[in-house]
Amino acid sequence: MNSETNRQSVLTLLPGFNCGACGEKRCEAFAQKLSRGQARIDQCPHMAQERFSQNRTSLEQLLVKPEGETARAEIGLIDGYQADFELLPLPGEPSCREVLFPFSRAALQAGDIIRYRPLGCPMIHFAKIIEEAHGLITVHMIGPRNRVDAGGEFSFQDIGVCLVGGFEGIVEGPHPFVGQTVRFLPRHCMMRKVHSGVVVQMVGDRAIIEGIDLKVWAPPV
Ligand code: SF4
Repeated sequence: MNSETNRQSVLTLLPGFNCGACGEKRCEAFAQKLSRGQARIDQCPHMAQERFSQNRTSLEQLLVKPEGETARAEIGLIDGYQADFELLPLPGEPSCREVLFPFSRAALQAGDIIRYRPLGCPMIHFAKIIEEAHGLITVHMIGPRNRVDAGGEFSFQDIGVCLVGGFEGIVEGPHPFVGQTVRFLPRHCMMRKVHSGVVVQMVGDRAIIEGIDLKVWAPPV
């Protein structure tokens, strides 16, 4: 089914009230978002009514991905959780951007190479600082247990444990909405560990996700 056919099919199953309660002025715009995976059915409050229960079931069947379409890349290797999407580096950058809260009092500045362990992660990380502001540092990953970018040069500052505050990158998969709590896989994550966080900004497919947590609870069964 092409995207236009899918959008039309979704539209015929919505209430058609054009009331704006979902955040879109018209059902048509909401249908477009639903068919692109950028919205959830329950954002239209009317769909919870008994008279739309059959429509809701049909919508859920229409919007489910065909078997096999879910990329293995969206599934964490450590816990097997399904991520909502992968987060890719910004164009031309080596990894997603990460914002860190270092506990170390070392003087840090852009260009420094650091070794650290993210709180909640067993892996040692190496990263390059691209920005420092008010004690927060924004970094690119440059290697796992050893530096991999510098051809034998191993100078770095060991700054111990850091709290990971945020990620910035490109969403590959359904676009989340601002305020949504998401499960995502940073493309550079060595453990293929699903992370969780809250989307605080979406510009096109570029997302900033904060409130990062590695404790991702299993969905109810
Ligand atoms: S809340 Fe439902 S009925 Fe109202 S505009 Fe959105 S999709 Fe249409």
